[in-house]
Amino acid sequence: MPRDYYEILGISKDASLDEIKTAYREFARKHHPDMNPNNKAEAEEKFKEISEAYDVLMDTQKRAAYDRYGHAGVSQQYGPGGFDMGDFMRAHQNDLGDLFSEVFSGGLGDLFGGSIFGDLFGTGTTQRRGRYTTRGRDIKVRIPLTLKEIYTGAEKKIRIKRKETCKDCGGKGGKGFKTCPVCGGQGRVRQTQQSVFGQFSSVSVCPNCRGRGEVAEEICTSCNSTGIVGKIATIKVKIPAGVQNGNYLSLRGQGNGGEHNGPPGDLIAVVEEKPDHVFTRNGNNIYIRVPIVYPLAVLGGKIKVKTLSGDVMLKIPAGTQSGQVFRLRGKGMPNLQGYGSGAQLVEVYVDVPKRPSREVRELINKLSKIKT
Ligand SMILES: [Zn+2]
Ligand SMILES: [Zn+2]
Repeated sequence: MPRDYYEILGISKDASLDEIKTAYREFARKHHPDMNPNNKAEAEEKFKEISEAYDVLMDTQKRAAYDRYGHAGVSQQYGPGGFDMGDFMRAHQNDLGDLFSEVFSGGLGDLFGGSIFGDLFGTGTTQRRGRYTTRGRDIKVRIPLTLKEIYTGAEKKIRIKRKETCKDCGGKGGKGFKTCPVCGGQGRVRQTQQSVFGQFSSVSVCPNCRGRGEVAEEICTSCNSTGIVGKIATIKVKIPAGVQNGNYLSLRGQGNGGEHNGPPGDLIAVVEEKPDHVFTRNGNNIYIRVPIVYPLAVLGGKIKVKTLSGDVMLKIPAGTQSGQVFRLRGKGMPNLQGYGSGAQLVEVYVDVPKRPSREVRELINKLSKIKT
């Protein structure tokens, strides 16, 4: 049974993003394998453990899934091989870039799948089972949703342009492959360098075969030897109820295919909430303004009010004031975490007729002479 993510980082369940980040940074320095020369393997495991915890807790959606379902809620987000350190580095180079360059300048490249510097600073290569492959780029799409769709949850079909494996060469980019003479088929060349932690050897991508370990005699013209071609794909995206503007879902492996059968990138679907002319959303609460007539405000009664789940009757007590707010419990947005939902707040206001009929004017006249 894997350990609790909060426990791993030594933080509370309600820790803020800043607290998570600070905790991760501390542990990252402590468990750097170069700082633990006598138990590198153990340090490496620890490193992976804290990185996975960080990855989950820094992501609103993954964290929500974890809080609700525990490890089962997030394990499926990490493809078949489980959590991958190389993917982690790529995903967090923006928020942890400075930490990476400070802490990871040691021999981590060797430990965690090839040249991490290559990964971080542009070449986008990743090493699995010996040779390098190029991971496909992620694709970001926006998914506009109405409040009603967000209320119920939605399944959207989206069309995207993406790179897929070239059928003509099976993604290899050519035929008649021969072992690369420069790296001897390793796809990498080794160098020895000096770092703050001492001497270490680093590996970099073979410049001749660009990490593939082999070179083609004849290139594939359909894909221009890249192994990938442009295609239009239709993807189904399931949006859970209660999402908010800016939330995103990562569909693993649904992005661009990688060159030469490299692992595919992800499809990142970003939720965009369409404005609504009836309802206003504030967190999980829904706000609406409803006019009532003067007699109803004075005498009380019932009115029909729209909600995201259909019309409901609302009791208006006698003597209701303009601007008074009534709360319809449970009629707001469902909580993304899956328990409960917000309320609908109904603000009533007394609708004053702009052009009263003669009859109304007479009655109002009479009314104005009565002491209330
Ligand atoms: Zn080579
Ligand atoms: Zn091809």
